[in-house]
Amino acid sequence: MTATLRPLLRCALIFITAHAIASERYPHMPQIAPIGERIAKYNEIPESARGPAINSDKGYRLQELGDGLYMITDNIYQSMFLVYDHGVVVVDAPPNYAKHISRAIAEVTNNPVTHVIYSHSHLDHIGGITALGGQPAIIAHEETAKLLVRAADPKRPLPTITFKDSYVLTVDGKKLDLSYHGDAHEPGNIFINAKAQKVLMVVDIIFPGWMPWRRFAVAHDVPGHFEQVELIRKLPWVTLVSGHVARTGTHADVDLQSEFNRDIKAAAAKALATTKPGETLNPADGGNPWAGYDDYIDRVALQCVNSITPKWSPRLAAFDVYVWDQCYAMEQSLRID
Ligand SMILES: [Zn+2]
Repeated sequence: MTATLRPLLRCALIFITAHAIASERYPHMPQIAPIGERIAKYNEIPESARGPAINSDKGYRLQELGDGLYMITDNIYQSMFLVYDHGVVVVDAPPNYAKHISRAIAEVTNNPVTHVIYSHSHLDHIGGITALGGQPAIIAHEETAKLLVRAADPKRPLPTITFKDSYVLTVDGKKLDLSYHGDAHEPGNIFINAKAQKVLMVVDIIFPGWMPWRRFAVAHDVPGHFEQVELIRKLPWVTLVSGHVARTGTHADVDLQSEFNRDIKAAAAKALATTKPGETLNPADGGNPWAGYDDYIDRVALQCVNSITPKWSPRLAAFDVYVWDQCYAMEQSLRID
């Protein structure tokens, strides 16, 4: 071998060795791609998770919920508005379809928007509010107000009315009961209860027919998220507006999510209890506790995924997209919360 070829060969060998280590998999890996790995095709979406099609010319779908209350959706996001004698109350304005909200309202009334309610502070649910125009009163929880002061985002004007535990908005005899039940998805995320219409709106907790968005919908507090699923389950509504997916929710949807939560919690707890830390760690990494935990937690998540997949993969849309995220979030919550 010539002297010039030798360093090249060494580089190639180092590359091949590094590549081989990086792509080595744990035993018993499921077919479901772990985080960071591409998959050719995700599972098909079951019929139970689909909603009515949206009118592609309009870009949204309007659903009457009774007594002046409507849901608007683009089949990814959901918001509401309530029409009363002298005006309209809008609950959330996702930027996804905010430009259509005024048109959707104009389908049923010429009344002006007098009030806006923020379900919570997140940009993806309220960041389209300025598209409504006018100077509506804005109602939100006091924790939401704090987060919005910090965000200083012109797309999310500060609330003009805040509350701590509950607030009843009465407009010409129509009512929306707002209440706060603590941290779960994020501080300030409220329940909006239209009792006369038997409609409950709670955003980013329940995903009718679907796997929750990754890490229990990026729950700020995972035990709080689990508790709110149970609270929503107990309340006497008929239609749930959950802020996401293509259709409204039923009690059967919430029961299903509650059962999933119980199963994944039990699976992650068992995996934590039966997995040995450090068992498959390269001894050369013995002085690296981060690597030791990574090896342990990867195997815990793997056992959790394998254990819940047979039952849940056919029952929740996009189970395969986020099951790894849920198992990582669950094991972490069980270890530290
Ligand atoms: Zn959110």
